[in-house]
Amino acid sequence: MDLLSKIRNVPNFPKPGIQFKDITSLLQDDGAYNHVIGLLADRYRGAGLTKVVGIESRGFIFGAALAHALGIGFVPVRKQGKLPSDCISRSYELEYGEATIELHTDALGKSDRVVIIDDLLATGGTLEASAALVRQTGATVYEIWVLIELAFLPGRAKLKGYDVHAEIVVDSE
Ligand code: AMP
Repeated sequence: MDLLSKIRNVPNFPKPGIQFKDITSLLQDDGAYNHVIGLLADRYRGAGLTKVVGIESRGFIFGAALAHALGIGFVPVRKQGKLPSDCISRSYELEYGEATIELHTDALGKSDRVVIIDDLLATGGTLEASAALVRQTGATVYEIWVLIELAFLPGRAKLKGYDVHAEIVVDSE
């Protein structure tokens, strides 16, 4: 299936110059969304994963469905101030300013082996901070999965040392 054709490109959102990859057009397509979840389940069935980690918020849509398909638990990484219990947190640079993400302290431990899921890899800051949080708990990052990689940005270089899989690689803006 040509998944890229299912993703709507929205120019100048949320600000001038950004080509926003809108996955809602893929999600609302019965065949395409199910196809992606099938790819995920086929890829990670038998990998010995104990949890799926999803990044707020679009990582939840793919990560939760994968956790269900594999019959294992789902762990959210969320923006600061959203998780109610004790958290570990990490800040990282955005194009303008800084962002902080959090993980419940007791969500993962040494015996866990996880895949981290997000919709899109751009500069890699979000995934790098998420992977660092996961490793801080003692858990093993088996792989990082994204639906779309913007390969003209240095995201993959930022994630050196991790295995990264992208279903769709976009080479130019
Ligand atoms: P980054 O930390 O730069 O890799 O940014 C990744 C996060 O920002 C992902 O969670 C994406 O949802 C979002 N994002 C960044 N750039 C885009 C884009 N061009 N289109 C859609 N989402 C984007």
